[in-house]
Amino acid sequence: MKISKSVMSLVPYKPGKSLDETKREYNLKSVIKLASNESPIGVSKKVLAALQEEAQSIHYYPDPSCFNLKKAMSEYYNVKGECLTFGNGSNELIDLLIRIFCEPNESILTSKGAFIAYKVCAKAARVNVIESELTPDLKFDVKALIELYKKHQPNLVFIANPNNPTGTYLNTNEVEELMSVVGNDENCLVVFDEAYNEFVRAKDYPDSVEIFKKYKNVVILRTLSKVFGLAGLRLGTLIGRPEVLDFVDRVRNPFNVNSLAQAAAIAVISDVDYISKACKVNWQGLDYIYDRLNSLNVHYWKSQANFVLIDVKTDSNVVYEELLKRGVILRPVNAYGFNTHLRMSVGLESENKTALDALEEILSK
Ligand SMILES: *Cc1c(COP(=O)(O)O)cnc(C)c1O
Repeated sequence: MKISKSVMSLVPYKPGKSLDETKREYNLKSVIKLASNESPIGVSKKVLAALQEEAQSIHYYPDPSCFNLKKAMSEYYNVKGECLTFGNGSNELIDLLIRIFCEPNESILTSKGAFIAYKVCAKAARVNVIESELTPDLKFDVKALIELYKKHQPNLVFIANPNNPTGTYLNTNEVEELMSVVGNDENCLVVFDEAYNEFVRAKDYPDSVEIFKKYKNVVILRTLSKVFGLAGLRLGTLIGRPEVLDFVDRVRNPFNVNSLAQAAAIAVISDVDYISKACKVNWQGLDYIYDRLNSLNVHYWKSQANFVLIDVKTDSNVVYEELLKRGVILRPVNAYGFNTHLRMSVGLESENKTALDALEEILSK
């Protein structure tokens, strides 16, 4: 067997540890999982009803054009239907963008500490990854990105805004600074990955749809996995110009988005109560987590998403293990280059309390 060198250097994606696995290994009755930025409030009732209905038709192939979904999403995002296509999670769309816009040995540009899928998909496609350093406060460094853009002329620029696992974001001025240089470059597509868009509270967060309308070389990624609570169904949205989407539609598998996902997505985006509850629970949870960490004197970064990056100032894997023993699953982020940090997803009030009580006990030892 001959394996490509770039594939050889890949390590399999390590998902958050599962509830069942943890219960078994640590012989625990109850475990809470705050490791994968999933919705803590469960599934929308409207989604459950839509799934029941759609289940009657799963002997048919799904609609490969996602006609009804496109119509609903077009209204939701206020963009034309021809500017939308969908993927099996945004992860698939990231993979497709790299395969479509890069030849092997060409490059993508992103930041260190950025969402890891960009790097994994690029390597799998034998594409080089150029990374700028993060700023000291763990933001993407726009000036450094611009320098590297000029130097390397990447085919794609990936901006996770807000970023996972840092929770930091670029504001309107910073994005404009970047776009004033990169905008309208015919040989470079800028991808704004906004998986956490709905959770953002910062007043100076950019309106990416406006940026998309202003510059020709912009696409936006959104997902149904986070605020909408559909991570298990796998559905990501790509907003882009028809010229760009045309290629995505050539390369993607025709049935990449299954019929249950299509029906569930249509149901959830009209479930205003579910979405506002998800945001409210998240924001209250974030404020509670900040308060607790402040009083513990533990360092963290203010987050615009549904998780908090915490610096435990000691080997995070030790703290991670200690938390597991107490039935709490957080996420080590060594793969991102953070060796003393854990990422905690925001859970329900009681879950946040349990997790922080456990963390307090461990760190006070
Ligand atoms: C969670 C996340 C996604 C979503 O991935 P899906 O494949 O849609 O579940 C995309 N980008 C970032 C930055 C994320 O954190």
